[in-house]
Amino acid sequence: MSGEVKGSIEALPEKAEVALVGAGLVGSLLAILLAKRGFQVDVFERRPDMRKETISAGRSINLAISTRGIRALARAGMDASVLSQAVQMRGRMIHPKLSDGVAGELVFQPYGKDDSECINSISRATLNKLLMDRAESTGKVNIYFKQKAEGIDFTENRLVLEDDHGTRASVLADIVIGTDGSASRLRDEMMKRQGYKTTVSRLDYGYKELVIPPTAGGGFAMERNALHIWPRGNFMLIALPNFEGSFTCTLFLPFEGPVSFAKLTDKAAVEDFFQKEFPDAVPLIENLVETFFENPTGHMDTVKSGPWNVDGSAMLLGDAAHAIVPFYGQGANCGFEDLTVLDDCLQEHLDQGGSLDIDRQNNANWKKIFDDLYARRKVNCDAIADMAVENFTEMRDKVADPRFIMLKAVEKHLEKSLKGLYRSRYSLVSFSNAPYKVALDVGVISDEILTPLCQSIEKPEEIDLKAAEVLVKEKLTPLLKDLPALSETLA
Ligand SMILES: Cc1cc2nc3c(=O)[nH]c(=O)nc-3n(C[C@H](O)[C@H](O)[C@H](O)COP(=O)(O)OP(=O)(O)OC[C@H]3O[C@@H](n4cnc5c(N)ncnc54)[C@H](O)[C@@H]3O)c2cc1C
Repeated sequence: MSGEVKGSIEALPEKAEVALVGAGLVGSLLAILLAKRGFQVDVFERRPDMRKETISAGRSINLAISTRGIRALARAGMDASVLSQAVQMRGRMIHPKLSDGVAGELVFQPYGKDDSECINSISRATLNKLLMDRAESTGKVNIYFKQKAEGIDFTENRLVLEDDHGTRASVLADIVIGTDGSASRLRDEMMKRQGYKTTVSRLDYGYKELVIPPTAGGGFAMERNALHIWPRGNFMLIALPNFEGSFTCTLFLPFEGPVSFAKLTDKAAVEDFFQKEFPDAVPLIENLVETFFENPTGHMDTVKSGPWNVDGSAMLLGDAAHAIVPFYGQGANCGFEDLTVLDDCLQEHLDQGGSLDIDRQNNANWKKIFDDLYARRKVNCDAIADMAVENFTEMRDKVADPRFIMLKAVEKHLEKSLKGLYRSRYSLVSFSNAPYKVALDVGVISDEILTPLCQSIEKPEEIDLKAAEVLVKEKLTPLLKDLPALSETLA
């Protein structure tokens, strides 16, 4: 059946070659990549079409895209168009507090060794719309909106869908891929099978978004090329720039406790709290109190699951398989990297003489591809999940600590002085395609090397370079040297 009248139950196809559940960031990019390989793709999305109706884009207003995300976008020929709508963030701008109600002097901490290493802030809605437009323009992708996946029968691969009037229909699919986000329905169905497991760990912290609008002249009210952080120990405010001159602020605060969302229940409490903790942000935030009470308080989960596939006929990707907390700015980047690796698995399968034909009776080809993908990704997705939780402490607390600032400056110094030998964990995560697990291990070993060497120095240049080089060669080089993907970033 034609997919022309989308969003009504009559328009659904009876049978799909590849069915995707969820047209979010990962589902939309996946649709493009599969279409490029010649597959016919039908995407079922629970929400209305955000290009036609004004709806909230979901989990956060903007997000940071870095090297891994850009590499996947490049596979779809989308890197330049996406980056043209993004604002470069070249480092953290720290907003210290001298005392209650008194702001300290701003401190800029660069992210990379120079301005070429930056992360890119983009509106989630803009990115999602660009991806959906490109997917549809391939002529091989139909997106059906207001179609919520309610269940799946894996024996036939029959997907049960419900529209916004509660009308149900089903679609048979050769392959179903769940890109339906952290509360994935498809994952719930998979996990009913023997040997499948999901763990969900919820942070005791919530988040709330607020807005700093552009200035009267249309400019940015703060430094535009930075991610702004107000670190306050066990909570923080951050702000990411938007293309049109505004900033999206996010307050991360415990749900309960002496300083918590539970205490901010009326106008006076909110005003007091912001005035005391973020005095320089208060005059910039639009309708602070009204927005605070209007906007929802989000929660943050780490989801680890496995295996992600049922034979060769169903698979989970993106947040549906592995959701992480947002403190490394990597959730979407990691989901996009799933797609690069899937694309690699497909290509390697072809290069080894395999076929991508789909045979529902014996889908051994696709089982091999999905097993391969899971084996390559699982350990790395678990690694970034753990690093993201760890990075929360770094952002809300350590960035204001002089020893930590010294350690970061020393890392930059080593990256420059020991050319190609030293890479920090942050730089491996954000500015390379090295497996996340390697970045995790590098972080642990770097701490072991640098903590004693930094103990008695006042400036990064005072570090004993010779001793550092010996230790780096002995302990870090073995981790980094066998990575072909790293050779370009280590050059
Ligand atoms: C506050 C915050 C800040 C973040 N910042 C960053 C950042 O800076 N950088 C970064 O890389 N990542 C960031 N992330 C993480 C990022 O948002 C996610 O990793 C990313 O959105 C995952 O994409 P996805 O397509 O897998 O899932 P989603 O974006 O959640 O998309 C899932 C889609 O599936 C649809 N859907 C859900 N259920 C069904 C169903 N039953 N049937 C049909 N459709 C369904 C949804 O409507 C949605 O369109 C942040 C997250 C949060 C919460």
